[in-house]
Amino acid sequence: MDDGRRAIKRLASDVVNRVAAGEVIHRPANAAKELVENALDAGASTIHVQAKEGGKRLLSVQDDGHGVRLDDLPLLCERHATSKIETYEDLKTCASFGFRGEALASMSYVAHVTCTTMARGAAHATRCSYADGKMDRDGAKPCAGVPGTTISVENLFFNVVTRQKALKSASEEYAKILEVLQRYAALRTDVAFTCRKQGESRTTLHAPVAESRVERLQAIYGPAVAKDLKTLEFDTATSKKKFDFKLKIDGLISGGNYHSKRTTFILFINSRLVECAPLKRACESVYAAILPKAEKPFIFMHLQLPFEDVDVNVHPTKQEVQFLHQDAIVEVIQSKVEKILLATNSTRSFTVQT
Ligand code: ADP
Ligand code: MG
Repeated sequence: MDDGRRAIKRLASDVVNRVAAGEVIHRPANAAKELVENALDAGASTIHVQAKEGGKRLLSVQDDGHGVRLDDLPLLCERHATSKIETYEDLKTCASFGFRGEALASMSYVAHVTCTTMARGAAHATRCSYADGKMDRDGAKPCAGVPGTTISVENLFFNVVTRQKALKSASEEYAKILEVLQRYAALRTDVAFTCRKQGESRTTLHAPVAESRVERLQAIYGPAVAKDLKTLEFDTATSKKKFDFKLKIDGLISGGNYHSKRTTFILFINSRLVECAPLKRACESVYAAILPKAEKPFIFMHLQLPFEDVDVNVHPTKQEVQFLHQDAIVEVIQSKVEKILLATNSTRSFTVQT
């Protein structure tokens, strides 16, 4: 008798995995973020990114990091397989970007993934391809290469038509990839980054290792941003005022001569690229009040908080984090920004008076 109720069945693992992949990888830029983080985790000092059709046809990230151990290749795209943590407790002190062992697995369920890797001093590189979490049957093959790892992700969402349709044009998707790279490049001045559209010799991002963050921001965003940046530095450890939390800020924020149609708010917390809407709003409101003509600022901010104050495991994309003392921290930052802007404002009006 059909009473409208259906039996509960366990989903087949390939269905589970494809559903889970959708949480981590929404578009090429998410894949770019994961691949760049893996490259940084591997100790890369140079990262080259190439994209074809905005990363929809191909996204490849080449690094000169320590490479993947050959024994590890069969596990590379297996879900929940990672070399970065072993116990749940490790999360408390986890300094690597990765820890979920999910990114490459996710990509392999919704795209064709190929890895070419070579350890320093090895006689040759090794290449293998992956589908649905597993290495292709033909296994790993020796090939020519350079030390480091290149991961290529081709035909993203070839098997998820709805996702494919939800993607924007190639140029919009490319812009999102570029934005991710620019942000990591802003943080890691010690690593060289390039990004280009495949087949074009001109790079859209060319950021050689830089001496200072201002120099780096100039290479990424050009002189319009770099020439009007104020330093925002703060450390509760050296502050005269006493705080009941620990916080260190390393930031650069635009002044009154920077004009843009939209805010650029780049936030890292303990080196993780995250979003924090209340903090962004708080900063924007200070600009609107003090520098109404420059109310859409450029802000780069790296907050360092004790590991135990930050929960990085809020969302699979790790885009959001939760941290303790959020309201108080937003308030501190707001008052620092205010102080800097008031100072620039008074120098400006002073110049006008004389
Ligand atoms: P996670 O970064 O969370 O460990 P990933 O799926 O991103 O998970 O990567 C799985 C594993 O593959 C990593 O733990 C690492 O050992 C290895 N790996 C991935 N990318 C690279 C790379 N570019 N260089 C060296 N090893 C890598
Ligand atoms: Mg990773």
